[in-house]
Amino acid sequence: MAYDRDNRPDLSAYWMPFTANRQFKAAPRLLVSASGMHYRADDGREVLDGTSGLWCVNAGHGRPEIAAAVQNQLMTLDYAPSFQMGHPIAFDFATALAQIAPEGLDRIFFTNSGSESVDTALKIAMAYHRARGQGQRTKIVGREKGYHGVGFGGISAGGLVNNRRLYPLLPADHMRHTHDPARNAFSRGLPPHGAELADDLEQLIALHGAETLAAVVVEPVAGSAGVLPPPVGYLERLRKICDAHGILLVFDEVITGFGRLGAPFAGQYFGVTPDLMTTAKGITNGVLPMGAVFVRREVHDAVVNGSDAAMEFFHGYTYSGHPVSCAAGLATLDIYRREGLFTRAGELAETWADALHGLRDLGLVTDIRNLGLMAGIDLAPRAEAPGARGYAAMVAAFEAGILIRATGDTLAMSPPLIVSHAQIDQLVSTMRAVISALD
Ligand code: PLP
Repeated sequence: MAYDRDNRPDLSAYWMPFTANRQFKAAPRLLVSASGMHYRADDGREVLDGTSGLWCVNAGHGRPEIAAAVQNQLMTLDYAPSFQMGHPIAFDFATALAQIAPEGLDRIFFTNSGSESVDTALKIAMAYHRARGQGQRTKIVGREKGYHGVGFGGISAGGLVNNRRLYPLLPADHMRHTHDPARNAFSRGLPPHGAELADDLEQLIALHGAETLAAVVVEPVAGSAGVLPPPVGYLERLRKICDAHGILLVFDEVITGFGRLGAPFAGQYFGVTPDLMTTAKGITNGVLPMGAVFVRREVHDAVVNGSDAAMEFFHGYTYSGHPVSCAAGLATLDIYRREGLFTRAGELAETWADALHGLRDLGLVTDIRNLGLMAGIDLAPRAEAPGARGYAAMVAAFEAGILIRATGDTLAMSPPLIVSHAQIDQLVSTMRAVISALD
């Protein structure tokens, strides 16, 4: 079915996720096809993808190699159960992921999304402590402004109030966030100030007792809250404190994984290795739902060898290790490797930073942050209407031919890792025109 402006679907039945449904349906923005760096909107316009879809299409759209692998797998083994049965491609994909993993995180548990990866990682952390005779370690430490998906574990660890306030939560406490524009505004790359905020963890340990804490969960670079790179030395400090108190460190790499910073994973980029790492999105270039938890071998072994029950870990999904998603993932890894996409964000980082920080002179811009191929631009909020200016900027950008994201009054960009220099110029010059025209 070919959609266009004169042939729009009925919009009423679909309750859209994380969307202002009434606002959207009154003025829809529909994408009907995609290729390379571009979407096509239903009015025929090309829209440059400044967000890799939703931080996931790292190798660009419409990759024939992935399509061919998916088609082939569909016709070879479309689905097979993963409970008490196996299929070869899931083992192959786990092996391939282990080969690019941070040192030692070579045991892989498959899920279908970032949210599932986070909740799975939390269960693994608790199972690990129980296997070692420390079953009272069940509390989680997260961070303000953290986003870890929408499962109950993820919203408990997360620190975005709208995602949490309606629901009962797991026992969790939070460190302060690291966004400090008073000291760090317009820093390029890592902000210089704020490593001491990691010491919040010491305070939470003093408050709760280390013996009750299972895991600390952070995004190495907070993404959904508006791209907040960690202060210099911050992650190293968290690692040290976790080690000193036997608490597992979980990096949520759902956004930073698969090349976003210029290394396969942020753990490698920062030289800080977590005990567990949650991933999704770029694992299949976004084309099929999939996630994976990377687990330090000792953590895996403690659970798997430390159990008297035949089945060591009572957890899994019907679609864990789905053969078609694994085929998409293997083809995706091939592209990332062959085209040098694990390191390309590093090669472009200076160009990206130069272009973005060129927007600093705009009157409404109060901060610009960047790392790898991620960027956050803060706009001064409209009086008594926080978020309205950010939303207006996102809509105006779309009309001007680029896709960006708005979280409140923060604009985020994270283009596919195949972006050209000319496309970076286009993204940033369009942003300049859009922000300049905002009221
Ligand atoms: N964790 C992080 C850091 C994310 O950015 C996201 C999604 O943006 C998630 C978890 C949730 O992933 P999903 O939407 O696939 O459940």
